[in-house]
Amino acid sequence: MQALFYTGPEQMELRDIELAPLAAGESRVRVLATGICGSDLHAYHGHDPRRVPPMILGHEAAGEVIEGALAGKRVTMNPLVICGHCDYCLAGRQNLCSNRTMLGMNRPGTFAESVVVPDQCLIELPDGLSPVAAALTEPAATALHAINRLARSLARPLAEARVLVIGAGAVGLLTGLMLRQRGVRRLTLADTNPLRRATAEQAGLTVIDPRRTPVEADSVEAVFDCVGAAATRTMAVQTTRPGGSLMHLGLQDNDGAFDMRAVTLKELIVLGAYTYTPSDLRATVDLLASGALGPLDWVETRGLDGGAAAFAELVAGQSAAAKIVLTP
Ligand SMILES: [Zn+2]
Ligand SMILES: [Zn+2]
Repeated sequence: MQALFYTGPEQMELRDIELAPLAAGESRVRVLATGICGSDLHAYHGHDPRRVPPMILGHEAAGEVIEGALAGKRVTMNPLVICGHCDYCLAGRQNLCSNRTMLGMNRPGTFAESVVVPDQCLIELPDGLSPVAAALTEPAATALHAINRLARSLARPLAEARVLVIGAGAVGLLTGLMLRQRGVRRLTLADTNPLRRATAEQAGLTVIDPRRTPVEADSVEAVFDCVGAAATRTMAVQTTRPGGSLMHLGLQDNDGAFDMRAVTLKELIVLGAYTYTPSDLRATVDLLASGALGPLDWVETRGLDGGAAAFAELVAGQSAAAKIVLTP
């Protein structure tokens, strides 16, 4: 089969490789759609010590099972392979599993014609949900998990809050669409990239350039930092009202000072969110299938042979697409 290999910093190469044998409890899935994630780009730069080349990246995918117990079924997959018996797994917090591994990180990923996945990771797709839309399950579940965590921290219902989402990449955009679907009426997205702003506007969201239209200090009850950089953390702390909540889910850098004094004086709730649980993924599949997030026409598709070029474009900030999905 063909697979897109990450071979070293800023290098991708399409290779022909033998199919890996299946172990007990595993299935082979023909990949029909697989999204390029910010974390794949991070690895592509050589910035992720957990992703060691040469390897196949990719963890957002949907396809059809061609070998294994669910053969013939259309599926999406949980890229987190969990142990099922640690304290976190038993408590329903499988995203924190002490023994987890991940597709496209320490297991071969989905930028390939097929991928071997433990059966526990497979989620059957309802009829009518396309593979390209289903490939959004993973980033959308990241947004859903973060929204649910933040909503639990608010004193009033989420729909009543003024909410700021920093970053209009895939996770920021999906967070915005999901907040709108949850009834949030005072919702603003912020992004400095005009291409991303245009995409968010087209999706019907209110989006600003924070350099031209700074968000007023102490003006929102909840902030989602979907970028996770020094400047966005500063903005998040400044804009959150006293008593408000700040959700940090971007992983761009760990630079700069974090204003703990403001956190203290404003009595802010600062939360992190990492990935999703199996329940989050199932809820997300249902949400995507319902069409409640609107037309997902901001997704752009390319063949697997267009993967290397797609990475180069995304890195150069030349793509208007909030998400590029490869269709092997
Ligand atoms: Zn991802
Ligand atoms: Zn576990």
